Amino acid sequence: MSQLARRDFLNGVALTVGAALLSSREALALSLDDLPDGSSSYPPALTGMRGSHDGAFEVAHSLRDGSFWPTAGSPADTGERYDLVVVGAGISGLAAAWYFRKAAGASARILILDNHDDFGGHARRNEFRVGGRTLIGYGGTFAIDSPAPYSATASALLAELGIDVSRWERMLERGHYAGLGMRSAVFFDRETFGVDRLVRAPAELIEQGATSPGTSHPDPLAVFLADAPLSDSVRRDVGRLLKASADYLPDLDDAGKKARLARLSYADFLVKIAGCDSGVLPFFQARPHSLYGLGIDAVSALDAWGLGLPGFAGMRLEPTAGPGMGLDARPGRRSPFVHFPDGNATIARLLVRRLVPHAVPGRSADDVVPAVVDYARLDEPGPARLRLRATVVRARHANETSEVEVDYVRAGRLQRVRARSCVLACWSGVIPYLCPELSRAQREALAYATKVPIVQTSVALRRWASFHALRVSQAHCPGSFHTSVGLDLPVRAGRYQPSRRPEEPIIVQMTRTPCRPGLPAREQHRAGRVELFTTGFDTFERSVRDQLTRMLGAGGFAAARDIQALTVNRWPHGYAYQYNSLWDPFWIDGGPLPCVAARQPFGRIAIANADAAAYAYTDAAIDQAYRAIGEVLPRA
Ligand SMILES: Cc1cc2nc3c(=O)[nH]c(=O)nc-3n(C[C@H](O)[C@H](O)[C@H](O)COP(=O)(O)OP(=O)(O)OC[C@H]3O[C@@H](n4cnc5c(N)ncnc54)[C@H](O)[C@@H]3O)c2cc1C
Repeated sequence: MSQLARRDFLNGVALTVGAALLSSREALALSLDDLPDGSSSYPPALTGMRGSHDGAFEVAHSLRDGSFWPTAGSPADTGERYDLVVVGAGISGLAAAWYFRKAAGASARILILDNHDDFGGHARRNEFRVGGRTLIGYGGTFAIDSPAPYSATASALLAELGIDVSRWERMLERGHYAGLGMRSAVFFDRETFGVDRLVRAPAELIEQGATSPGTSHPDPLAVFLADAPLSDSVRRDVGRLLKASADYLPDLDDAGKKARLARLSYADFLVKIAGCDSGVLPFFQARPHSLYGLGIDAVSALDAWGLGLPGFAGMRLEPTAGPGMGLDARPGRRSPFVHFPDGNATIARLLVRRLVPHAVPGRSADDVVPAVVDYARLDEPGPARLRLRATVVRARHANETSEVEVDYVRAGRLQRVRARSCVLACWSGVIPYLCPELSRAQREALAYATKVPIVQTSVALRRWASFHALRVSQAHCPGSFHTSVGLDLPVRAGRYQPSRRPEEPIIVQMTRTPCRPGLPAREQHRAGRVELFTTGFDTFERSVRDQLTRMLGAGGFAAARDIQALTVNRWPHGYAYQYNSLWDPFWIDGGPLPCVAARQPFGRIAIANADAAAYAYTDAAIDQAYRAIGEVLPRA
């Protein structure tokens, strides 16, 4: 096949750098300075397949498959006893440890266990060295940004960690790309639309809730539609949806319209209610991907309205929530938006600094961003310890329920620690395997929390001149392997400065949401998860090179020259599952929520994690940690 079929990366780092295009000095500098050490003890700098990396999930899968215990033997007793053991070092587990420490005192003995080689859970940090410069990016959680305002609890934790939200909002150099004449685009791929074409687009077409000033001349929508490789009827319908003043349900009042839209997919709304050519469907299919992990076949028309998708302008819907609206789509005030260069990994680092200060240098939110964490010190003896690469396989009461035994596998060895209390801040779906003595009803409720698979791919580019040449800073790619591509947001953090000039290196963020349109939502997530576990890094590598070349080739992009390294943050167990009016009858008809039954404490064990709220945001992880610690404290 083409040049793109070659394996040009070793563990995510480019092997060839287009030598003809580089001076010998540049080439030498690359080989000496830029290659992250594949055996690094510094996980953020590891490239290749990350996120749920190899070695992190095998034990848990054998537990699920029933093949673990028959060959496991007895756990080796470490003799370690703690006041609290936390399972899961995501933001929920770290926050739980911190709340416990505050309540029980600085000498409280706490152990946090996590199956990954890095902490933060989905709040994962990626680092690259390019041209003698360190680039910091995010491998999962992007920002403090929730569809509803943060609770008093979650806001107080941010303040306590030294995050002044209003100040950080100003660290983002909004408008930087626009100032260079760059804006959003749609990339039409030839497999879906017959031809590869990158077309600059008005913001409201591809950005959630965005609106155009409406005064520009010529009309950006008309220009976009004229360039888009769509049939005349699809062009007409897309234009009509965006400009429409039609009321497609004229006989219903506001409540009646919302009730109808809640039970209808957006795909059906477009074709059956708004009378569009079915050719519009591929164009809109991936629009809800980044929030729902699903396409328009599985997201309600009411949620589509809430997300700002087109077609509802003439329906005179009151800006109030309708029945069964998705949490992402509900109208109302949002949380503030704060993006650190490593996303919410900064929050995780600040929590770890509180718990294990000797491992995280510095004193402020500014200096934690460029800080190098000393991973070797996370598990040193001390009041709080963080033990990575440790998969918990059992948490059960012992000694007439006066303590909890927690068994975990680390480096192939089954080991046991004991604690007066335990918080399971891991994914709800794992808990039935850790605690088989739970009631069947609670196990079923926990298992309902199917995770949403998602991939966040970080691509380190040596320069972004091709984006600049095409005047594009981000693109929605409805038919491509990665459905979104964007230059990293320019944000300052202490002495860390973003890439500002097209000749400088930068991280490009690409997102893929594997799903199987046509199936019910949770089955789509399961199918996507299987796909992720069976897709190798070489497929991601090829797809990234292929997609960027086809998108940006006209701007001078050359994969072999421009890509320095890539990190595929694979999250088969990604977002917490959020209820959806099309698929979860209790969410629209009323009835008990599975997450409430699932998170009930039992004995000395409590349950945290964003899954416990069925809400895929950082504030949920914090709020659930606070609740869980409130449940174990009386027994501590
Ligand atoms: C790609 C992506 C982007 C996101 N973007 C945003 C965003 O911009 N803003 C936002 O607010 N939220 C975002 N979220 C959601 C947010 O990251 C989560 O809600 C939050 O971080 C969840 O934290 P948590 O601690 O509850 O769970 P997790 O972060 O999942 O942490 C749980 C930890 O427990 C570990 N674990 C599981 N089982 C075991 C076991 N048996 N033994 C040991 N450890 C175990 C897991 O591996 C994991 O490390 C995003 C999520 C993803 C996946």
